Amino acid sequence: MKKDCIFCKIASGEFPADKIYEDEDVLAFYDIRPQAPKHILVIPKLHLDSPGEAKEEHDALMGKVMRIGADLAKREKIGDGFRFIFNSGENAGQTVFHIHLHVLGGRRMTWPPG
Ligand code: 5GP
Ligand code: ZN
Repeated sequence: MKKDCIFCKIASGEFPADKIYEDEDVLAFYDIRPQAPKHILVIPKLHLDSPGEAKEEHDALMGKVMRIGADLAKREKIGDGFRFIFNSGENAGQTVFHIHLHVLGGRRMTWPPG
């Protein structure tokens, strides 16, 4: 756990979130400012700042984050079309520096993203 990290605090239960999935490695909750009718965040409980920091030792963990994201998309009835986004670094729009997968759906998504 990293001090002053909001997602570590959500993972430890110190800060509330609208959780929809939890196991020993991974947590998922609704984004507080949804950008689509369904906007889920999936995080590893392990603190990594960003996708740019992930190493080979995190392959299984990050694979699990994505598999759970897809399972939750189906469970949340957006399995017919959803988008995965990982923002890495300020220039990509990352604002919370604990790695997280955005799962967006429930509306027609546009391309290219801004
Ligand atoms: P980023 O811009 O870093 O890729 O995404 C961070 C996301 O976390 C944003 O979509 C933002 O709305 C969400 N977020 C920030 N703080 C909180 C919080 O305290 N609770 C929840 N549920 N989402 C948050
Ligand atoms: Zn963290």
